[in-house]
Amino acid sequence: MCKTVLITGASRGIGAAAALAFGRAGWNVGVNYCRSEAQAQAVGKAVDAAGGTACLCPGDVSDPAQAAALVERTVDRFGALDALVCNAGVALPQMLLTDVTDGMWRELFAADVDGVFYTVRAALPPMVHQKSGAIVTVSSMWGQVGGSCEVAYSAAKGAVIAFTKALAKEVAPSGIRANCVCPGVILTDMNAHLSPDDLEALRLETPLETLGRPEDVAETIRFLCSPQSAFITGQVMGVNGGLVI
Ligand code: NAP
Repeated sequence: MCKTVLITGASRGIGAAAALAFGRAGWNVGVNYCRSEAQAQAVGKAVDAAGGTACLCPGDVSDPAQAAALVERTVDRFGALDALVCNAGVALPQMLLTDVTDGMWRELFAADVDGVFYTVRAALPPMVHQKSGAIVTVSSMWGQVGGSCEVAYSAAKGAVIAFTKALAKEVAPSGIRANCVCPGVILTDMNAHLSPDDLEALRLETPLETLGRPEDVAETIRFLCSPQSAFITGQVMGVNGGLVI
């Protein structure tokens, strides 16, 4: 029987690549988007063409009712929820902590931390009911080690790591696994502001001397939702070319 995954922030970047990876594996995919409707429609078509079945799920994960509606829409459409990928996220421009305003901090935490909480909370009842499920959260290497001029983002992504570890302990008796993926520098819109010189410097700083592609992270996410990772839970997996070891 087809398995079902809901991926938040699947209209672009890592989430879009993850949707396609699951589609190629024949999964039903709830494709969440917030603002990028046209891109999400293209992702949905690509998932269908790849052999999966897509269901577009509009909604802002930082709103508890909208986050819950994503889960409800996916379960209504496909009849189950086998996996949840909490990928939606935003970053602030690099800046000193003293320049971060209250509003910037709140918006960042609303999308990157509250969004994970609201979506996971809504996804747990169907997973507990079926006594199985896989949850993957997307943090960042900055959540592991902290980055200068990235204090707020590091704090938010560090919260996602701690959330996932605690969650894994809490839900394991219900047959649910929870793991966290920490990307390094991945070529998506989130890094579009970096100059060619900045990107080249980051590439040379990376032990594998290459920058990451969304597909690199997508395949790790798919693995962590597959039966091949059945004995893996509570883990924090870097996908960073060795930039953080
Ligand atoms: P991206 O290309 O900027 O895409 C971000 C995605 O998140 C979009 O689909 C966007 O949807 C969605 N999103 C943002 N806020 C949302 C909200 N409130 N509700 C629902 N969806 C929302 O970013 P990316 O590089 O793929 O990043 C994906 C995840 O990886 C993020 O959590 C990010 O922090 C993390 N990450 C990325 C990198 C990197 O180098 N790229 C490194 C470490 C970690 P709409 O466009 O539809 O609004």
